[in-house]
Amino acid sequence: MNPHSLILITVDCLRADHVGFLGYRRPTTPFLDCLAGESTVFENAIAAGAPTYYAMPPMLASRYPLALGRDLLGIAPEESTLASVLQESGFATAAFSAANPYISPRFGYHRGFDVFADFLQESDPPVEDVAIPTTFRGRVNRFLSGACHSIGLGAAYSEVYFQYCQKLASSRCSSLDSARRFPSAEVLVEKAVRWLKEHSHQRFFLWLHLMDAHGPYFPKAEALRLMGDAQIDAAQAVYLNSYWNRSDLSTTRLETERKGIVSLYDAGIRWADEQIRLLAEQLVELNVWDRCALAVTADHGEEFLEHGGRTHLPKKLTEELVRVPWLLRVPAGPKVRVNQPVSLLDLAPTLLDVAGVPSPAEFRGRSLWSQVRKGTLQDRPVVSECVYDCTNPYLPGDRMGPRILAVRWNRYKLVVNFSSGSDELYDLSSDPAEKNPLHPKQNTEVRQKLLQHARKHLVESSQSRDFDRRMAAQVREYRLELARSADHSREN
Ligand SMILES: [Zn+2]
Repeated sequence: MNPHSLILITVDCLRADHVGFLGYRRPTTPFLDCLAGESTVFENAIAAGAPTYYAMPPMLASRYPLALGRDLLGIAPEESTLASVLQESGFATAAFSAANPYISPRFGYHRGFDVFADFLQESDPPVEDVAIPTTFRGRVNRFLSGACHSIGLGAAYSEVYFQYCQKLASSRCSSLDSARRFPSAEVLVEKAVRWLKEHSHQRFFLWLHLMDAHGPYFPKAEALRLMGDAQIDAAQAVYLNSYWNRSDLSTTRLETERKGIVSLYDAGIRWADEQIRLLAEQLVELNVWDRCALAVTADHGEEFLEHGGRTHLPKKLTEELVRVPWLLRVPAGPKVRVNQPVSLLDLAPTLLDVAGVPSPAEFRGRSLWSQVRKGTLQDRPVVSECVYDCTNPYLPGDRMGPRILAVRWNRYKLVVNFSSGSDELYDLSSDPAEKNPLHPKQNTEVRQKLLQHARKHLVESSQSRDFDRRMAAQVREYRLELARSADHSREN
């Protein structure tokens, strides 16, 4: 019998190797670790794109991030999504997303939801925006910094300016709660439970998108205590975040605070786990826990200098950025661990299959459900893609860079970077850190196979483009641009 209802929880920035059920040694996910024992666990779930704006369309609309053209982001008007299909099938639908501006009606994510709460204020800046100081202090700093660099004192000046900003920031920040940029998980869970109390008597689809692990990293004090890191207070967290954001430091110097910043990140995961536990308790109380399927996954991972970078900017598709947890608990469903790489492109068709609802023909992914149940899942190449260096997608010009494409198959991973004109093949079984590409003359058959798959993907991307969807998404972009220009001229 199919479960009554579906819950999808996505934890922004949650990398696979930081959850206990995939081998992490710190206690980030005690509840999910228990749940994993009664679930299907995909040990190598791969995001089809990163960051959020490339990761989410594959998960909700089951198509590749650049399928509509690299100039377009989000869900196109009238595009079928997991939510729209379930809504049309009579499910009550609700989404609670913790203020990620890329998951908003502006990008079409409200489609298919009866209730869509994104906790965004009109004035919220994009999360990945690079902060450019526009204040008087910022202008003075730029002037002095330029002058000091010109006489060889740049590093010393940067250090003094950093210490000065630290004192200023610490004096303004009284608590971790006041420094946090996103609503933490308990806020979303509370709203979700309120909604469930009214709708759990019917079939429902609930989506929660949690930002507790997203930078800047200001977890709940309670979560730090649960992780054994209670000594990290608000002032220390301000210091760690500011240090981690510095652009004037070498990787070696950033490494000195890596442990502290990872402690903050881990506490964010712990809080998400704790709140998922409380949500599950409420579902038991509402008598729906054993009638609903629960999927927990992430849009993408997070980097802590493994390849010299921080956060999750689209400059690479390394494992710490694309390998994410995916746990699927279905009452009376199989309790298995799937080792083959699978794509989050398959998330929506799999969840629809679990609920007994047919997938629309336009979904590019496939349901993994019957193969998982029969134990016959085939190993197929898995593709991830993004636009190199599109760090501020609000600027249309930023979206038009060259593509990076990764093809994962079995233990191998081919990364084709059109920005640098390189293709590198890795054997992740002997090189899990993805540091040493194989010599071009090694494993030529595998290289050929994966290159062919990359080529096939590129051809299909353009040949299968849905031009009606594309045009509708373009019209939305133009309208928004016109509205923004009108607002701008009114303000001036
Ligand atoms: Zn994200």
